[in-house]
Amino acid sequence: MNYQSTKNRNCMVKPSETILRGISEEGGLFVPESVPFLEQSEIKNLCSMEYCQKANYILQKFLTDFSEEEISNCTQKAYIGHFEKDIPAPITKMGNNTYILELWHGPTCAFKDMALQILPHFLVTAEKKSDKKQKAVILTATSGDTGKAALDGFCDVDGTKIIVFYPENGVSKIQKLQMQTQEGDNISVFGIRGNFDDTQTAVKRIFTNEAIRKQLAEKGLHFSSANSINVGRLLPQIIYYISAYTDLLANGEIEEKEGINISVPTGNFGNILAAYYARKMGIPIKKLICASNANRVLTDFFESGIYDRNREFYMTESPSMDILISSNLERLLFDLSDKDDALIQKWMASLQKEGKYQVPSNIKEKMDALFYAGYCTDEETEEMIHYLFEKYSYLCDPHTAVAIKVYDDYRKNTGDTAKTIIASTASPYKFPSTVLKAIKGFSTDDEFAAAKKLEQCSNLKMPQSLRDLMKKEVRFSGSFSKEEIENLVKDCIGGEN
Ligand SMILES: *Cc1c(COP(=O)(O)O)cnc(C)c1O
Repeated sequence: MNYQSTKNRNCMVKPSETILRGISEEGGLFVPESVPFLEQSEIKNLCSMEYCQKANYILQKFLTDFSEEEISNCTQKAYIGHFEKDIPAPITKMGNNTYILELWHGPTCAFKDMALQILPHFLVTAEKKSDKKQKAVILTATSGDTGKAALDGFCDVDGTKIIVFYPENGVSKIQKLQMQTQEGDNISVFGIRGNFDDTQTAVKRIFTNEAIRKQLAEKGLHFSSANSINVGRLLPQIIYYISAYTDLLANGEIEEKEGINISVPTGNFGNILAAYYARKMGIPIKKLICASNANRVLTDFFESGIYDRNREFYMTESPSMDILISSNLERLLFDLSDKDDALIQKWMASLQKEGKYQVPSNIKEKMDALFYAGYCTDEETEEMIHYLFEKYSYLCDPHTAVAIKVYDDYRKNTGDTAKTIIASTASPYKFPSTVLKAIKGFSTDDEFAAAKKLEQCSNLKMPQSLRDLMKKEVRFSGSFSKEEIENLVKDCIGGEN
């Protein structure tokens, strides 16, 4: 199976090459040429498998130029020894019909680990297959959790180098500390004065900068991305939705073929897009619930069919969702428009120029059938964290709380009581002062003091990796403007031989 670009459907690329490139030359995103379908019998077979086995089974359908052995080598390296109890995606039941899919038991305590622990191994495997024998330079813009998860995944992986940019005032204190203290000889980390969209736009421009690419190639290097535009990020995220569905089936929580909903706290649209692909693969998902914070550009888009980023940007208590340009939406629109690459080009050009575009009614109708979208303010987020703690003694991070609140609204508005999976995307200990404020009503700027208080009043322990942060040395503390990004990248690769 090949992958094609959303901006040029005739550009067909092998799976390994897709992972190496990250993004297509003309700026399009790669998508599978056809999405493999799981028969009912296959879904049943998956029920008795461990996470790694499920991952192997699903990835073989997408990475058709990887051998079985190569794939299982990747999944072993990623999912054994890095996640609590070697269970990467456990489910907690909450009330009658709601299931929290906890995707934050990995090394950096956010769901990004699910994909970024395996992406480096995909890349190294793909490099070996390529006759160019180039080494990858990973260039990443982060809204907080991607950066740390990518740094952890790529740290000292042979044949890779990683450069991370983050908006210096757009990430939480713990997220910043996680990145600034990262160990490893193959990494660079830069704080940028600006928001995530500025940072992401500047980084994307470097990918398509011919001069820099040439300079890289001369040194035997090539760019790739750890952002969710890389197919190697998308595929591992499909796995946990299928895993969750088959876990519920195996435990008798749902019947065969029973339809469920999935609610996802959404920023760059990567996580919810993976759920959309799981649905295309045959998992009976009724509604995909797209939950946003006060940066409600997606809520408005699903309501009106108009994507308009010309609006105020808010810094919220769910910072990993503070995004006004949701890159992966392009993949959904390519699919819903029956792969109309010219249309995608037109819309994305308009997004770049005027900051907006509008989809026609036939596409809007398809969106309505598949998705429900809603948003939630910081105040409502805190109320939900408070409620969950009082009612279920459950500590919930702000991003997950957004998904639960929007699901709550969905159920009230529609009366739909179908079983629902909530994608829980971060450990509450990644945002301890917000969580403490929500449940106890008082706040502190000292994240570690807040974490200690949370431990005293709950059954959940702070993850060791976050505890260790207190003692670590800060290695990267500079502050840069977005205009400097290009030169910083040149400096980083300049020293490379
Ligand atoms: C990245 C992130 C999100 C948003 O996920 P997208 O795939 O960008 O939509 C939500 N919550 C947390 C904690 C994250 O790190």
